[in-house]
Amino acid sequence: MNLVWFKITDLRLRDHEALKKAFNKTPNVLLVFCLDPRFNQNMKFGEKKFSDFKLKFLYQSVLDLHTQIKKNGGHLNIYFDTPENIIPKLVNKYEIKKIFHIRDTTDEELKQLNIIKEKVADQAKIKDYWGNTVYHIDDLNYPIDKIPFVFSNFRKSLSINKIREEQNIKLIRLQKCTQDVDNINQLIKLNDKLNVPMKFKGGETEAWQRLNYYFYQKKLLSNYKKTRNGLLGKDYSSKFSPYLAFGNISGKSIQLEVFKYENEIEKNVSTYWLYFELIWRDFFRFSSIKYGNSMFKLKGIKNKMLDWRNNNDEETNKLFNKWKYGKTGYPYIDANMLELRKTGFMSNRGRQMVASFLIKDLKIDWRRGAEYFESMLIDHDVASNYGNWNYAAGIGADPRENRYFNVYKQAYTYDRSCKFILNWIPELKGQDKKDIINVKNLNYYQPIVNIKNNY
Ligand code: FAD
Repeated sequence: MNLVWFKITDLRLRDHEALKKAFNKTPNVLLVFCLDPRFNQNMKFGEKKFSDFKLKFLYQSVLDLHTQIKKNGGHLNIYFDTPENIIPKLVNKYEIKKIFHIRDTTDEELKQLNIIKEKVADQAKIKDYWGNTVYHIDDLNYPIDKIPFVFSNFRKSLSINKIREEQNIKLIRLQKCTQDVDNINQLIKLNDKLNVPMKFKGGETEAWQRLNYYFYQKKLLSNYKKTRNGLLGKDYSSKFSPYLAFGNISGKSIQLEVFKYENEIEKNVSTYWLYFELIWRDFFRFSSIKYGNSMFKLKGIKNKMLDWRNNNDEETNKLFNKWKYGKTGYPYIDANMLELRKTGFMSNRGRQMVASFLIKDLKIDWRRGAEYFESMLIDHDVASNYGNWNYAAGIGADPRENRYFNVYKQAYTYDRSCKFILNWIPELKGQDKKDIINVKNLNYYQPIVNIKNNY
């Protein structure tokens, strides 16, 4: 019997090579997902690994996967323990010979895999497959340790013709699934109990609905480049990131749909731009293999020490909490942080701004910000999150030294009408919009740091 190990990053049926291969020439397959109790633990700086938003998105994704498998006559076994405990036991119980999974690239996940490998070494082989990105790792023109340091060189090294076809299982084969446990009611209960207002619902079904809406129903893809820097609402950007993060859809599947859209509807700079952004994600994912744990260190992948506040100072904690809870006295920063706190999402514009503020204006250890994002974001992706924070701190892949986002300029450029700010901070309604942008004469929190207004 074979075993397929679904993880939190590949919760789908479509374009899942490990799933497809596991059903080749074999009588029975055990499909396994482990809801790891460590998701509820705190991380290095004290943030919970999974906020309620993230947890809800995960539950919804697993529930949808369970339903889709069941519809096709199969069964997903759900366990409430760590994969390191569960998988070796299953290997023994069912004399599993091969474990199929989609390859991860970062430390925690690799350590977990190694423990399982050691525990089952005499009994089962681990078969890993590449998935989730647009490009296959074997189609890069160089060994992974030679991946270019900056994004533009990476982009130029890619050939659009090399994007592979989807790897789809014949769904009828799911009938060969074996049932070990049926814990679905436990998961339904957990999900029902978690009462959080979700802007987006998790799951493969929802991922494809979102794609159909964004591409074909509304043709929003045709204007993506013009709208992508927006702040308010669902449609200024694709919002594919949460589905990608939980693997409800693969980067490759999205890109193949972009090609289809270009053939059938329209090909323009916006359709290209979605590809451009998707390969940023590939870039961080591939780079995470090369740079390993340096991505999580204070000096980052550039191994560069900057002038940081002491993490143990009370003042540092006070400032960090003002940032985290949206009480910095800068309405544009606070609105973004409130959005994150109330929805588990923030726009790309917002993320760049609040990261720069924490790092460059407050001089607070970027890893605390990254950890807070890791906890809160429904689209948290290890490589994209830590890669972008490295970049924002000037210790990552940014070829420009000292990139800085000025809060007045950003607010003026992207939210001159204060629509976004007032949406999240309605208390400011009635105050002069110019004053809100310039943070002047406001009946609001005192700014926690003095930033020059040169704009
Ligand atoms: P769209 O603009 O529609 O872009 C389409 C897709 O391209 C996205 O879904 C995403 O997969 C990819 N993409 C776009 N920009 C980036 C980028 N800069 N880096 C990597 N991929 C990108 N993205 C995550 O998916 N997970 C994270 O944990 C994450 N953390 C971030 C932290 C910081 C400090 C910053 C500045 C950015 C971070 N991003 C992260 C990147 C980006 O902000 C989000 O991917 C984007 O806002 C998601 O919204 P969307 O799907 O509507 O994006």
